[in-house]
Amino acid sequence: MAQRIYNFNAGPATLPLPVLQEIRDELIDFHGSGMSILEISHRSKWFEEVLDDAIVRTKRLLKLDDRYHVLFLQGGASMQFCMVPMNLALEGRPLDYIDTGTWSTKAIKEARIQGKQVNVIASSEDREYTYIPGQFEVDPDAAYLHLTSNNTIRGTQWHQFPNTGKVPLVSDMSSDIFSRVFDPAPFGCFYAGAQKNAGPAGVTLVVMRDDMVERCPENIPTMLKYSTYASKKSMFNTPPCFGIYVVQLVTKWLEETMGGIEKMAALNRKKAELLYACIDREDFYRGTADADSRSFMNVTFRLADPDLESKFISEATAAGLGGLKGHRSVGGCRASIYNALPLEGVEALVQFMRDFVRTNG
Ligand SMILES: *Cc1c(COP(=O)(O)O)cnc(C)c1O
Repeated sequence: MAQRIYNFNAGPATLPLPVLQEIRDELIDFHGSGMSILEISHRSKWFEEVLDDAIVRTKRLLKLDDRYHVLFLQGGASMQFCMVPMNLALEGRPLDYIDTGTWSTKAIKEARIQGKQVNVIASSEDREYTYIPGQFEVDPDAAYLHLTSNNTIRGTQWHQFPNTGKVPLVSDMSSDIFSRVFDPAPFGCFYAGAQKNAGPAGVTLVVMRDDMVERCPENIPTMLKYSTYASKKSMFNTPPCFGIYVVQLVTKWLEETMGGIEKMAALNRKKAELLYACIDREDFYRGTADADSRSFMNVTFRLADPDLESKFISEATAAGLGGLKGHRSVGGCRASIYNALPLEGVEALVQFMRDFVRTNG
């Protein structure tokens, strides 16, 4: 019998066990085809059903109306950093960005490389990206406002999206898609590398509204144009079939086992509150993000005595709590508690953290 740990890795990250079991059970002979999903033509009825179901479930979970396309790309969220300005900029209009660190910073860089007029209208760089900026003005003339809904590395999250008037919001939602309830209406586009909260590495979800697809210029390469994916239902060329299949199973699990996004979001909040309460209770631990900006997905913290951090991480690993090391760029500790990380995993971590204080405090 295989031994599974509680996997707190930031990405690629833990997947729901029932999804893994389903993949295993139907791997050799997919739905009576006599082939595995890895071997099937993307033009076959078997794959077409998978793709259609992934799209339908994604739209239902995120309450997307008919104006929205669900696209599956390759190249990760990082590819969207360049494709978004390439496709969605408008002649003579600025691009507004908010810089909450790492991923936003990279997105800004990719827009500037292309010579776009980028205005960083707010940034939390002054305090090492430990908070979500509150005061800023969106240029009503901007082609879009780009932000990162959840900073996976710094452990910060937008809990309320800014009111941008008529300016469409564009968001990198790599680490909190499907984790929360939000109104999609202000969004012209959002995207997510699947490997955090939606599936495996190798597939990227892009949700885009009709009017944004219409912006895509003709004179850019076919594979870098969102309209190619929208007009061909992500099948202009061979799509990342296996990744799409896993996303389909994850969305099915969200709907049928977890009861939809509202229930999932409530559970995520409960998990996060449990962990932050433990961090705040003990002087031994220090949360790194401002209280009102704390992420419900990536809980970042330090030990008051940083010399104890490597001991903390290695003893946790030995206790079956894996992946608690902070990102190499910031150090410290990080518990990624995505949808698939069960409440029992957070409870086990909290118990471990209390015990660790008792023996090392
Ligand atoms: C992981 C991550 C990325 C990078 O994703 P890739 O798919 O590796 O390009 C971008 N943005 C956020 C918020 C992330 O968490």
